[in-house]
Amino acid sequence: MVVSAPREIRRRSKSQSGEASEGGLDLIWGSGEEVFLSARTLRLNCPCAECLAKQGSTAHDKPLTPGRSLLRVVSATVEQETEIILVWPIGNYAIGIRWGDNHDSGIYSFELLRKLSNEQNRNWGEEEHGSKRP
Ligand SMILES: [Zn+2]
Repeated sequence: MVVSAPREIRRRSKSQSGEASEGGLDLIWGSGEEVFLSARTLRLNCPCAECLAKQGSTAHDKPLTPGRSLLRVVSATVEQETEIILVWPIGNYAIGIRWGDNHDSGIYSFELLRKLSNEQNRNWGEEEHGSKRP
């Protein structure tokens, strides 16, 4: 499936996002549809081989902190791991994201971003869109 590039991708830093205090990316799709993907959502869906191995097959259904932090295996804090340092385009099919813990091997294809956008829309209203969990 070919997914065309979002019209615009805006990085939202933690401080800019107000009371939700969660960073992430605002994606504006060609249709004008605007979707906010939280840094947490993006990090949990990091498509690099290393993260996929950790995620297992049901990765995106798992909360970040199922009792204990899923991410404690790494020496960085969750805070660092969900901080977006840099976003850059890769060809005309994907973006790369560098995280606060210097992890940057994930290539987020537009197809993946589209999929996450769809999931975000589906969950909208049911959950508190994942932004206020302590
Ligand atoms: Zn990764």
